[in-house]
Amino acid sequence: MREKLAGVPFSITSYLFGGSCFLCRGAARALLCTHCDADLPRLERALCPRCALESPGGALCGRCLTHSPAYDATHAALAYDFPADALVHALKFRGELALAPLLAGFLAPKVRAAAVDHVVAVPLSAERLRTRGYNQAVEIARHLRRDALELALCERTRDAPPQIELPYGERQRNVRGAFRCTRSLEGARIAVVDDVMTTGATLEEVARTLKQAGAAHVENWVVARTPLHA
Ligand SMILES: [Zn+2]
Ligand SMILES: [Zn+2]
Repeated sequence: MREKLAGVPFSITSYLFGGSCFLCRGAARALLCTHCDADLPRLERALCPRCALESPGGALCGRCLTHSPAYDATHAALAYDFPADALVHALKFRGELALAPLLAGFLAPKVRAAAVDHVVAVPLSAERLRTRGYNQAVEIARHLRRDALELALCERTRDAPPQIELPYGERQRNVRGAFRCTRSLEGARIAVVDDVMTTGATLEEVARTLKQAGAAHVENWVVARTPLHA
């Protein structure tokens, strides 16, 4: 029985990917071959607990000390670098939804023990959701602490130009007031899931909105973290 169950994921991935690695198309018994899996830029070095950028000894970084973010912590699994960026991109823009459990799996060990009441995903606007057909953050969140998942807790009130099209300095202004909580969150501890954290402007605005609704603690759970550009 146990062997049969263990064989299920392999048969599904073989069916979807023909037993070849999603990245290099070499032979693989899972979505990624062992080489590509080993090549992933896992974030294992000391990170700032607040923003997940590299920080000596894992201390609170200078940026967070001088400009305290609205969120209290960030957990990130991978650096947003090749080949992690290719996986995130394929999930986000090419509808490769089978990558969601894989990407969530890298993050799961870091958030398993987190003391949170609710898990939300960064919402897309209704319009963007219609065009894309799914929200990649939701797809990832489904595989993390399903028991605490509350998708309707936070909404996107308006569409803004995609952050990627804007200079870093304008991203915070672009998302200002873009989210709304659907109920009071007095004293709640919330985790916010997203695929990538770049400047953190979107997550900052989500955290600010959640705190305004009474949340006591907000932490980000992101698959990939972009290192700061000089
Ligand atoms: Zn490979
Ligand atoms: Zn920091």
